[in-house]
Amino acid sequence: MLTEIRGLNEECGVFGIWGHQESAQLSYYGLHALQHRGQEGAGIVVTDGETLRPVKGEGLVNDVFNEEKLRAATGHAAIAHVRYPTAGGGGIENVQPLLFRSSTGTLAIAHNGNLVNANHLKQNLERSGSIFNSTSDTEVVIHLIKKSSHSPFRAKVKNALSLLKGAFSLLILTKDMMIVARDRNGLRPLALGRLGDAWVVASETCAFDLIGAEFVRDVQPGELLYITKNGLEVDSIIEEQHPRAMCAMEYVYFARPDSNIDGVNVHMARKRMGRELARECGSIEADVVTGVPDSSLSSAIGFAEESGIPYELGLIKNRYVGRTFIQPTQELRERGVKMKLSPVVQVVKGKRVVMVDDSIVRGTTSRRIVRMLKEAGAAEVHVMITSPPMTNPCFYGIDTSTPEQLIAASHNVEEIREAIEADTLTFLTPEGMVRATARPFNDADGGLCMACFTGKYPTEIYSDTVLPHEKEC
Ligand code: AMP
Ligand code: SF4
Repeated sequence: MLTEIRGLNEECGVFGIWGHQESAQLSYYGLHALQHRGQEGAGIVVTDGETLRPVKGEGLVNDVFNEEKLRAATGHAAIAHVRYPTAGGGGIENVQPLLFRSSTGTLAIAHNGNLVNANHLKQNLERSGSIFNSTSDTEVVIHLIKKSSHSPFRAKVKNALSLLKGAFSLLILTKDMMIVARDRNGLRPLALGRLGDAWVVASETCAFDLIGAEFVRDVQPGELLYITKNGLEVDSIIEEQHPRAMCAMEYVYFARPDSNIDGVNVHMARKRMGRELARECGSIEADVVTGVPDSSLSSAIGFAEESGIPYELGLIKNRYVGRTFIQPTQELRERGVKMKLSPVVQVVKGKRVVMVDDSIVRGTTSRRIVRMLKEAGAAEVHVMITSPPMTNPCFYGIDTSTPEQLIAASHNVEEIREAIEADTLTFLTPEGMVRATARPFNDADGGLCMACFTGKYPTEIYSDTVLPHEKEC
């Protein structure tokens, strides 16, 4: 039953609940809170102790589920997923959680992240007779579980997961157990909470707030949790601690401002990024500070507070258009930027504008916004980016494109400034980013992964490590 398995390689959101008769409905609400992490597809798999039932589809959470479908998915436990799109990644067969049937029973998997040793493991499995239908990470995980000589099932899963390197926040559901696991570096977020007697897990704590669950703690790097009718048991897939490496881009761009990651609120971290940037850029003559909605509003407020330049709403987002990366082609992406943002002419006309944004990947978005502000009459546009130049690809599940498409990989800051047609351009330094996140860890990098900015990858990268968007997905 391994045909047509596709990738699990993108930035996504996972949600799980154990011990609640309305598990499907609560998963639906949980996915709503995680919608920003993926808009291409959504799915819920529910167990009633006997059978696993999937409900899934392409599109937004609201489009995929309705009352009738959720009511039919009865059970006391569920895992759920929202999927982020990549080029060529469409199709219902890619929508998670994925279901696998084998002699050891049926299981569902929902996964966020990208493995760096998937090819390596796959080759070893092929040498011992496994036949693969895709290049997806999930298929590798499933083969590893099936092939494991360990017993019982928990030991098989533990053994399989201990072989994985790279990023994963992973949920497995069988008819009588939910398994929760996080990679040894803690690259992607995963939090544990309670809703009455039920256990809940989610990529971001904002999902707990929406359903009224209480945050218990973050799932620790390398941790493996088994949740059954007997309660929660804690295990580990690692023998020793590894350096923490939470993706810095979660704080910069991906996570919702009301989420807390490793105890740090994302909105507050972004505000501090804006403040750091204002300090780092020295004195700047400008009339208004504006942020690019939504991810940069917090940092623009921080920049305004620190610089003393008034904060204004210079750009308005059209709520009913998705994020710009949704459209797979560059041409559509460019059109998407136009569709989703509008300048507030009264705010920017004749003004020297500080425009705060979270990151520059290819430079397309910044150039369009600078042009838009100038067309609306801005006298000057000073671009402030709350992350360092992105010079390296991400192997851990964030689709930052090919290295050739990263403008900072081949252009210095002055060349990028020219390309985006800004009057000045300032990036936050890696040190400023570490200070701003103010994570409660003592190491110099604050337990952050900043590899796309620094080239220092927290895991080995294999010669055959495949970038998320190059996988079959
Ligand atoms: P670009 O136009 O390629 O420079 O894209 C930069 C913009 O895309 C930023 O302002 C972010 O808001 C957003 N962004 C950054 N990284 C990503 C990513 N990995 N996926 C989707 N959007 C992103
Ligand atoms: Fe996040 Fe960049 Fe590290 Fe990828 S390389 S996990 S985007 S910080």
